[in-house]
Amino acid sequence: MAALSYQVLRPARALSSPKLSSSLLFSIRLLTSSSSSSIGSGVDLQAASFGGPSQSVPPLRREPNQRNVQWVFLGCPGVGKGTYASRLSNLLGVPHIATGDLVREELSSSGPLAPELAEVVNQGKLVSDEIIINLLSNRLQASAAKGESGFILDGFPRTIRQAEILEGVTDIDLVINLKLREDALLAKCLGRRLCSECGGNYNIASIDIKGEDGNPDMYMPPLLPPPHCASKLITRADDTEVVVKERLRVYNEMSRPVEEFYRSRGKLLEFDLPGGIPESWPKLLQALNLEDHDKQSAAA
Ligand SMILES: [Zn+2]
Repeated sequence: MAALSYQVLRPARALSSPKLSSSLLFSIRLLTSSSSSSIGSGVDLQAASFGGPSQSVPPLRREPNQRNVQWVFLGCPGVGKGTYASRLSNLLGVPHIATGDLVREELSSSGPLAPELAEVVNQGKLVSDEIIINLLSNRLQASAAKGESGFILDGFPRTIRQAEILEGVTDIDLVINLKLREDALLAKCLGRRLCSECGGNYNIASIDIKGEDGNPDMYMPPLLPPPHCASKLITRADDTEVVVKERLRVYNEMSRPVEEFYRSRGKLLEFDLPGGIPESWPKLLQALNLEDHDKQSAAA
């Protein structure tokens, strides 16, 4: 059924490898079928259009309150969505699947796609749907093999075509679109540092913007490395101002249709980050009706 629905939705340009796309279907099916517990997020969104156009796949489709979290995080590169997705994944006990991590792992392990990936990444371009689907497919298979259920996707879908492929095989309950004012975003991107030894991520940018025109102040302290990492910090090759600005421009151009895709289905939750993690995290939990969940897990 899933495969049939995928055929219907598949755009004119075929995927480069039918084998890969069927393994994606396989693993998403496994992943969604294996969910046993459920978490009612209780998010107040219009649920009228749940299901989308491919309602011919009943085995995979359950009411949102009868299955695990199947969420997507959207947001500009550098907005911090990885941080929030990772925290939520710990809180809710579902895997955080970041396509950025998948790409970096492939690069660092010199996998078969590494040479092609290195070229794309160094030019600040976005990785093709085919490569992302390939990497995601492998990750979902590993996830299913471990018996994990639910997911928080971070960095996928990035294009309307990816969103359509995803909709053809599984339900997405909620899409959280994280937003940050552009001056703060640029400063954050340029402040990113990576420890060349342990791979730890840090940020040396100290953002302190005085509120104007009724906007509140915004303060985001740097995320400084521990002493043993401090002398080993490197800037990623793609974190120059020219590349960052180009990346944001490309992102904005591509993300608008994806946001609209989910907005029209009543699944998009817009969230303006009010500052750093201490201000933003409680407000995000509030927006997701998860404050009680956080207290329970803190007390446990
Ligand atoms: Zn380190």
